[in-house]
Amino acid sequence: MSLLVVGSVAIDTLESPHGKAPDVLGGAATYFAVAASFFTPVQLVAVVGEDFPKHEIEWLRSRKIDLAGLEIQKGKSLRWTGRYHEDMNVRDTLSFEANVFESFSPDLPAAYRDTPFVFLANIAPKLQARVLDQVKSPKLVAADTMNFYIEGARADLDALLRRVPLLMINDEEARMISGERNMVLAARKILGMGPKSVMIKRGEYGVIYFSGDTIFSVPAYPLEQVFDPTGAGDTFAGGVMGYLASCGAVTPANLRKAIVYGSVVASFTVEQFSLERLRTLTREEIEARYRQFVSLTSFDVP
Ligand code: AMP
Repeated sequence: MSLLVVGSVAIDTLESPHGKAPDVLGGAATYFAVAASFFTPVQLVAVVGEDFPKHEIEWLRSRKIDLAGLEIQKGKSLRWTGRYHEDMNVRDTLSFEANVFESFSPDLPAAYRDTPFVFLANIAPKLQARVLDQVKSPKLVAADTMNFYIEGARADLDALLRRVPLLMINDEEARMISGERNMVLAARKILGMGPKSVMIKRGEYGVIYFSGDTIFSVPAYPLEQVFDPTGAGDTFAGGVMGYLASCGAVTPANLRKAIVYGSVVASFTVEQFSLERLRTLTREEIEARYRQFVSLTSFDVP
């Protein structure tokens, strides 16, 4: 089944102890869409400027990502510059130029309104709600958010949380939303705010999923070197939602497999700058690493 994503498509400049990558493909919705496209057809709703490289648009199209919802507006694309420290868990935003993204107001093409799986990537909660107003009875809606909106648009975010069944956030965001340091307590509080389930991404420590009385945890794939963590969370979400959409039904068993697929795709993303590793990644490599996850986490009942 098809999967709709709304969010940022950007031009990034990345700096890390491994070097510098100026003007490369970025954006939360870009990472998400490419990751999900390994599993299912994707519809992308975003805005870019006239400076956005044509060859990147062609590449996204070649991945069978439907771009009817990608607006090309007069002006410049969103540009973000981030710098990672020696400890790659620490990142500074050096600059953020919203440009055409400033006035982004997502309108779904008519053909997208029946899409059964919907992901609201990181944009203002008001705009995420605007997208929800336009979709008709989806099977699953998931959303992400970030510190900027948790601090700056709390009332809008609270209203959105009451409408989003699955929240996918990182540990810092979980702490900020809930006011709790402990992840179990944080998840409990968040589940009291509306979502039926929450996935908390914890970088190199993996991910924990909470839903009712269920807790499911998957480690991050043990890599010798993390080259560029940008977009890891977005590709995790793309793998999760892409796999679920390919199944067509959200069952507890599918959800567990989806979380492993998300972890697999994220582990490849961080091996190179930007989306470089995803350009050469194959479904066979994904399946091989999935099996490594199975052996990584398998143990007998005593
Ligand atoms: P992540 O590593 O998951 O935080 O995602 C990084 C991506 O999000 C980068 O490619 C940026 O272009 C994009 N990004 C950075 N800041 C924002 C923002 N305020 N809104 C939307 N996207 C952003």
